[in-house]
Amino acid sequence: MEKIRMTTPLVEMDGDEMTRILWQAIKEKLILPFVDLKSEYYDLGLPYRDETNDQVTVDAANAIKKYGVGVKCATITPNAQRVEEYKLKEMWKSPNGTIRAMLDGTVFRAPVLVKGISPTVSTWKKPITLARHAYGDIYKNTELRADAGSKAELVITAADGTETRALIHDFAKGAGIVQGVHNTDSSIASFAHACFQFALDTKQDLWFSTKDTISKTYDHRFKDIFAEIYASDYKEKFEEAGIEFFYTLIDDAVARVVRSEGGFIWACKNYDGDVMSDMVATAFGSLAMMTSVLVSPDGNYEYEAAHGTVTRHYYRHLEGGETSTNSVATIFAWTGALRKRGELDNLPELTAFADKLEKATIDTIESGTMTKDLVGLSTLENKTAVNSMEFLDAIAARMA
Ligand code: NAP
Ligand code: MG
Repeated sequence: MEKIRMTTPLVEMDGDEMTRILWQAIKEKLILPFVDLKSEYYDLGLPYRDETNDQVTVDAANAIKKYGVGVKCATITPNAQRVEEYKLKEMWKSPNGTIRAMLDGTVFRAPVLVKGISPTVSTWKKPITLARHAYGDIYKNTELRADAGSKAELVITAADGTETRALIHDFAKGAGIVQGVHNTDSSIASFAHACFQFALDTKQDLWFSTKDTISKTYDHRFKDIFAEIYASDYKEKFEEAGIEFFYTLIDDAVARVVRSEGGFIWACKNYDGDVMSDMVATAFGSLAMMTSVLVSPDGNYEYEAAHGTVTRHYYRHLEGGETSTNSVATIFAWTGALRKRGELDNLPELTAFADKLEKATIDTIESGTMTKDLVGLSTLENKTAVNSMEFLDAIAARMA
């Protein structure tokens, strides 16, 4: 059989622990037999990040900017315990954080749905994709405690030294707390572009929600920037694609999301996205089935699984024990990246391969062959728990 040819390389970022083992096996069993894979390989495994003083992460991010599409394995974000475990020179920053900052990207998370594993919310029939604005607000805040008798004011000092002041609260009657948060027009605009772009790409409606009735300057700025960018750059394209941009208040959005069928993108401010992405992910079933793609405002894409390196399974594997680690989100990271490469390079065979591999993965689970994490969730009558490699082999058998 002739393998599918690629014209532009894919940026391949290897990672750590159990997902590094799955990574290799997915390539060997599900991709290399069918695709003449052209990839530029970056080893983001912790030992090599340490060896290169994390330069490899920066190089990988630059390669995504160059080629437009990347696929990333889960990686360890070091903490004190990891510094000790890997004898690190430094507590290197989160690779995802570094790449996101360099691409100025927005993360979109969407669940893979299979028959037998029903969302907790019974009306949900299609995935809900959650987009979180990952800059500013309380994640870059300044907080102080205010003693009784103190007065808190908001002060902006202009470039020419002029001060604008507003009273936050007079603590005359007792002590309290104060918090200062910010965002920037450019970050909000990047977020908006990434959301509109991704909605067009995936032909789904885009919902956006803030609390602009209460926050008349801060949240209202988000609403205005989205509305302006929609009108100037996307309105016609949305109409052509037959999709909608819908703005509503966050509490109204929550109520509508729970009553909806799914099948749209929900863009949220930083905190709303943090909270709602965990709610939506849990209600859809399993973290191991949650995919994630980072989209930059100028149209670069990085695909990955939303989960981590599955450390507990890795230690069992190192001790020679059997693992039953779910590889679905990592497989879908590969198919997402290959499909995007196929679309950008006009290679319909590559796009069709991505569709076929996704279908084989879903069919495998729906026919009752699945990893342990899913057996507990699935309502199918005949189901078998298989180990990590047997699951990949079962998918491969459907690809032949
Ligand atoms: P995790 O790797 O997502 O695993 C947490 C637990 O969730 C696992 O122990 C397992 O539960 C279950 N799980 C997650 N993915 C699974 C899968 N594919 N198949 C089956 N079960 C799965 O999160 P963590 O333990 O908090 O973090 C481990 C490492 O990953 C950390 O070093 C962290 O820095 C890193 N991390 C990386 C990323 C990323 O690169 N995007 C994201 C998050 C975390 P059971 O053990 O009960 O089976
Ligand atoms: Mg959270």
